[in-house]
Amino acid sequence: MPESNHADSLSLDDLGAVPLLESLTSGAMVCDAAGQVLYVNPALRQLLGTPSLQTVTRLNDWIQPPPKVDCAFCLGLPDGEPTPLHSGFLQSASQPAQPEALKVKVKHSTLGAGWILTLVDPFSEDTTLTQAHSDFVSTVSHEFRTPLTSIKGFADTLLRYGTQLPDEEKRRFISIIKDQADRLIRLVENLLAASRLSAGRVELSYRPIPLKKLLEKTMESVRAKTMAPSSAHSGTPRVFQLSVHPESIEVWADADKLEQVFINLLDNAAKYSPDGTPVSVRAEFLPEDDAQVRIVVQDQGPGIPAELLPKIFTQFYRVESPLKQQVEGTGLGLYITQSLTTAMGGRILAESAPGQGSTFTVIFPAATPERQAIYQRRLYASEVER
Ligand code: ADP
Repeated sequence: MPESNHADSLSLDDLGAVPLLESLTSGAMVCDAAGQVLYVNPALRQLLGTPSLQTVTRLNDWIQPPPKVDCAFCLGLPDGEPTPLHSGFLQSASQPAQPEALKVKVKHSTLGAGWILTLVDPFSEDTTLTQAHSDFVSTVSHEFRTPLTSIKGFADTLLRYGTQLPDEEKRRFISIIKDQADRLIRLVENLLAASRLSAGRVELSYRPIPLKKLLEKTMESVRAKTMAPSSAHSGTPRVFQLSVHPESIEVWADADKLEQVFINLLDNAAKYSPDGTPVSVRAEFLPEDDAQVRIVVQDQGPGIPAELLPKIFTQFYRVESPLKQQVEGTGLGLYITQSLTTAMGGRILAESAPGQGSTFTVIFPAATPERQAIYQRRLYASEVER
């Protein structure tokens, strides 16, 4: 029997698991549902440099979760469900002298009899970097290559056969070239915006924004985009159903950044849902707090599997589906949307299930007289300081 905190009560042998876990090169431990450590294999003892298992009774004694970990079990919450962690890492508290070696990736699975098997592997920053880098290269090169190929192809055709083509055809080709150039500009702007946001460089100029007007303007520009000849939804105007109640709602935000948030959400709703299905946009004060405004964008598209919802806000991530190839995208839109929303004191939530459409909710501070007065006072104070 291997060394264990609770050797007497442990019957992993009955499961035939011990020899397997003993020889595993991954760190492995078995806990009960309360997070009490029952067994630790040699690879994990070595990884975490734990001198004596007698001093360790709970998962949390070794591993301190940094803020990104969302597994209730790892966080030591009373009703913590073991959640398989696909990304993110925990940091061991046991060897502060070697912080790099102690970043670990954790995965749980249920063993039966109320036991939880936790696999702990050293977290390689290199691997993650390589993954992020390869997502970046494949997305960005695809997103550059597609419009460039199209621009070159139509320009070549115009040069070679322009004199023989009817005017209408020539106009169509030129408008495709323009749409594709716009697409490239959007890509470059998104890359720059994402890099500014990652570096925390975002300047905000707050004022009260009449919401209905801004949403109508955004819908118009997204509708125009979906009707562009190069759009996957070419020729079909998207129906947006807007309800702003009361119509006079004003949000306290930066106008351009707020517009960017709505453009991204409406653009996604239109891009990822079938022609002819409406996109509904509803804005209202939060029932429990009229100093906050909720804007809900709901589509009837294919939806997103629940376990992928946290990932869609990371840079360059796109859900693997046939739509990925058909629909223009870089995986930057929601990262930008979330970063801008939180920078303006708001928050964003996504709800979806396959085949049930997607609902994105953003909540922003309302333009209350108190907020405006505080802002004016701060502005005045900083001018006086200068
Ligand atoms: P993209 O440029 O790929 O649209 P986003 O960051 O805006 O990037 O979105 C990330 C991914 O989330 C998309 O690639 C898509 O897979 C998924 N997604 C976003 N919005 C929706 C939606 N309304 N319906 C279905 N999938 C969506």
